[in-house]
Order: sequence, then C-alpha cells, then structure tokens
Amino acid sequence: MRVFKHLLPSRILTTCFTAAIISFGASAAAQDASNTTEKGAFDLEAMKEKYSVRDYVYQPLPERGYNYYQIAENTYFVHDAFEHQVFFVTEDGVIVYDAIPGLAPHTLKAIAEVTDKPITHVIYSHHHGDHARGMHLYPETAIKIGNSETAELLKEANDPMRPVPDVVWQDDYVLDTGGLRLEFKDLGRNWHSHSDSLVYAPEQKILLAIDTFHADAAPWIHFGEAVDPIMTWRLPKIILDTYDFDLIITGHERMVPTHEHFETYKEMVEDMKRFTYEAASSLEFQKKAKETMIRYSDGQEHWIYKKALEAGADICAAKWEEKWAGRVRNVRLNSKENCQTMWIQLLVINPESH
Ligand SMILES: [Zn+2]
Repeated sequence: MRVFKHLLPSRILTTCFTAAIISFGASAAAQDASNTTEKGAFDLEAMKEKYSVRDYVYQPLPERGYNYYQIAENTYFVHDAFEHQVFFVTEDGVIVYDAIPGLAPHTLKAIAEVTDKPITHVIYSHHHGDHARGMHLYPETAIKIGNSETAELLKEANDPMRPVPDVVWQDDYVLDTGGLRLEFKDLGRNWHSHSDSLVYAPEQKILLAIDTFHADAAPWIHFGEAVDPIMTWRLPKIILDTYDFDLIITGHERMVPTHEHFETYKEMVEDMKRFTYEAASSLEFQKKAKETMIRYSDGQEHWIYKKALEAGADICAAKWEEKWAGRVRNVRLNSKENCQTMWIQLLVINPESH
C-alpha cells in the first residue's frame, strides 16, 4: 500500500500502538513458533488451520503487540495488527524480506529468539515508505537487495531510513545462499507501485508478492491504490499460471495468505469485471443515463459524466455484493469505488484491454 495510508487514522493508531509496546516486547516468549508433526516435519495444514483462518484476525494480539510462527521449513512469519513479513533461516544466516517500519523491531526480536545467526541479506519489496522505511533498523552489514526501479526511486527519495540497495537487479535474479534459493522476477509492468517485483521460494513453495491482495477480504479501495489497475487484474492469472505455491506473502493482514485465498481474490476480480460490462449494457443503466442527460443541461458535462459513472458503478456493486456478501470480509466497504475504478479503466480509458 502507499505511504499515504500512514496518514489515515487507523494506520496512525497502529503505528502508535506498535511503538508503545516495543518496550514490553523483550520479556514476551515466542508463541507457537513452530508447527511440527510428531515426527518433527513441518505441518503446513496444521499451520493453515490455526493462522490462515478468519477467526485468527479477531483474536487479540499478545500483549507485546506482535506474534510470529513458522510457516515452512526454516521460514517464519511475523505480524502485528495489520502488517506481516517473513524471514528465512539459512545455513549461513538470516534473510529478511521487506522492511516494514513498525514491524522491523519485532522481526529483529523474533530472529534473535529463533537463531543466533547474523542477518546476511535484507530484500526490498518496493520503494513505498510503509514497506521500506524499516531498512535502516537492520544491521548495516546485511546486504540490501532491490530491483532497479526501487534503487532509482530510493536514490531520488534520498531518505536515510530507506538506503539505496547494495545489490541491484533487473528482469531476473537468483539468490542462492546457505541452502536457500530465491527467484526474483520483474514482470516488466508494474501494478501496485512503480517498483513492483515477485520473489519465489521454490522449496518452501512460498511466493512473496507484496501489496497484491488482502486474504479473505474484498479488494482494498481502488484495488490497493494501483498505479496500473489493468495489470492488477491480470496479475492473479499470471501468478497462478506461473508459480506453484502454497502461501503468498502480501505484507498486510495478520493471517497467513494461502493459494486458496488468492484464487478467491481472482474470482472476485473476474466477477466485478463481468458485472461492470453487464451494468453498462443493462436497461437500468440506459434509463439512469437518460435521466441524467435530462436533469443536467448543456454546460454541465462534468456532472453528467460523474452521475452516469456513479449510476453504472452502483449497479455493478449491487450485483457484486449480492454474490460475495458473507463469503469474505468487507464486501460492502469499497465495492462502489472499486466498480468505479473498473468502469473507468475498462469502459472509458482502456476499452480494448480487459
Ligand atoms: Zn505499497
């Protein structure tokens, strides 16, 4: 999500709350740091049953304000009220993905509880402050990795909290270290920010895809403030066709997002696209558009455009809410705004790009 969100009351609350509990964190013991079977192997299904379910969202956080647990072999998930990030423990050290400012101090504590190995690498997901401004909290000796767009934007930002990466990659990159393999991919077209990329851990079957969607929830307003909404809606198919994954790390929500959550998200997007087209060709919309034309006279074209857009999006949103109510969280929260985004992108400025 964009830096802008830090200005919202809930984000401020989260940040303040997170800061307030840092001092209490040291005494808190790791809760459920591992999910293992009797034979000691990692039990993915048991982990998902506990941490990939809606109930977990509504459970109170531990007093220290964060929690962490194992989500795959040598892989840990740290979350506070609304953010999450992961770290991998390799034979040589620790690799941290993302630098969420409120979560980085908790991640450092969690790492110290899991291993005494040093942090060897830290990876930028993208340049946005709410994912990058924790970078200065990690050890200076850790190698910072980012794609070329992230590097360029951070150079421009000149922010001491988001130093320019040491390793800058373009198109593709593989980090093979201490028995861990991470495959980096720049799709060549961004969706959420101006510096998006994907990172895949094939052995763990985890895809790191920050700010792509919210698990078990309707899409965020304006699809996560997408810089390229069309690509945002193409992405689920691209990801599902390309990667074999069990879990998909997105940076927000306290539950662990799964392949199933992402499939549901894809279905929600496809439905909304379909309902946008259906709304545009419906008699109800034709009638409302005509009424709008009559109501607003010559010279009020701004009003005609806006009111017709609202009428079309409202029809789309009603159809979409009817289908999805009760199936995921926050169905009615952003449906009208998101149908408006769809209407503008699919029908006004990009009529042949679905
Ligand atoms: Zn973002």
